[in-house]
Amino acid sequence: MPLLDDCDIAVVGGGLVGAALAWGLARTGLKTMVLDGGDLDPRASRANFALVWVQGKGLHAPHYALWSKASAERWPTFAAALAADSGIDVALSQRGAFSFALSQGELGMLAAELETIAAETNGAAAPYEILTAEETRRRLPLVGQDVVGAAYSPADGHVNSLRLFHALHTAMRHRGVDYRACHAVERIEPVDAGFRLAGAFGTIFARRIVLAAGIDNQRLAAMVGLHAPLKHSKGQILVTEKCRPLFEHTSATIRQADEGGVMIGDSEETHTTAIATNQEISAVLANRAVRVFPCLAELNVVRSWAGFRVKTRDGLPIYAQSASHPGAFIAVCHSGVTLAANHALVVAPQIAGGALSSDLAPFHSGRFHVSENS
Ligand SMILES: Cc1cc2nc3c(=O)[nH]c(=O)nc-3n(C[C@H](O)[C@H](O)[C@H](O)COP(=O)(O)OP(=O)(O)OC[C@H]3O[C@@H](n4cnc5c(N)ncnc54)[C@H](O)[C@@H]3O)c2cc1C
Repeated sequence: MPLLDDCDIAVVGGGLVGAALAWGLARTGLKTMVLDGGDLDPRASRANFALVWVQGKGLHAPHYALWSKASAERWPTFAAALAADSGIDVALSQRGAFSFALSQGELGMLAAELETIAAETNGAAAPYEILTAEETRRRLPLVGQDVVGAAYSPADGHVNSLRLFHALHTAMRHRGVDYRACHAVERIEPVDAGFRLAGAFGTIFARRIVLAAGIDNQRLAAMVGLHAPLKHSKGQILVTEKCRPLFEHTSATIRQADEGGVMIGDSEETHTTAIATNQEISAVLANRAVRVFPCLAELNVVRSWAGFRVKTRDGLPIYAQSASHPGAFIAVCHSGVTLAANHALVVAPQIAGGALSSDLAPFHSGRFHVSENS
């Protein structure tokens, strides 16, 4: 077969998920290629809030609660390995984080969710505390009078997400990954001992493939006997001008980046495909942020953006290998920052070894067939 290019494994998509997997694969010694799309693609990795977040993850899905917790615990090792390969410090900070409640109803809901997750994981989920208004203000003197309490977990943190993206791309090149921008894959054909990937760029042969193409996974998955049902989930973020350090900790919706800007987010819209930011959503985000931290009213908002999450129908990740076309893997998730450590250090070595471990079986896309048929 006269093919121009070939590789041991091709990762389709060079966002946070694809880049973390490609770096992890290259670390195992595989000849790895990344075929990425273009700048006009929806790219969640350039739009996120940068939390390494565990609190509240995995309600009625204890495997997801523990998977998120394990990734947060792996993050320091991951960040150090990434810095060694890329020379880039991603500004990981894991000093714990708050989820603020502006009504007793909200506080009750936070408490009930965290209690349920703790019970469903037999106490193995991340530790947490439910704080009164007084205790919240004692720990965070800048908190406003409208805050009636908070949930706090020491497991949560944040990073500089754009630097994480840059570090992963630098590190994967350092490990010899062949990265091809503007190589959108249009078709995948399973062929003898591998896969033919085709697009405007021509054709590439890969012995194995990993689909990590974000929202386009839904379309590509069907070409290799996989399934990735996604739903719309748009998030919007505001960023203020840079200012002196205000908060030592992050929170679910307000964080100060290491560079000084305060990020406020993030919303969820499920019934729109329009990428433009929405002023009404901005107003809600800003109003809530100022009620939590009144000092934010002094700052100018300098930027705002929206992005689409890569969110499956049940909100949980998908990790699977095709039964009909072995060698074709898929990775889909809406917490690509939090889970980056797991992707690089756990999932990639398993893919390199040829099979995902049984621990990941609950994340197989087969679960959707069950729910669709029931
Ligand atoms: C507003 C918002 C806030 C978020 N906050 C957080 C957070 O705080 N913490 C957290 O952990 N996560 C957060 N996320 C989620 C996180 O950003 C995503 O989980 C992650 O970026 C998904 O990465 P990805 O690589 O799967 O997808 P993407 O970033 O969408 O990347 C997909 C890549 O595939 C390429 N591609 C698409 N189609 C093809 C094709 N056919 N061929 C080749 N390449 C293709 C695209 O060009 C793109 O580069 C947030 C997301 C949003 C939108």
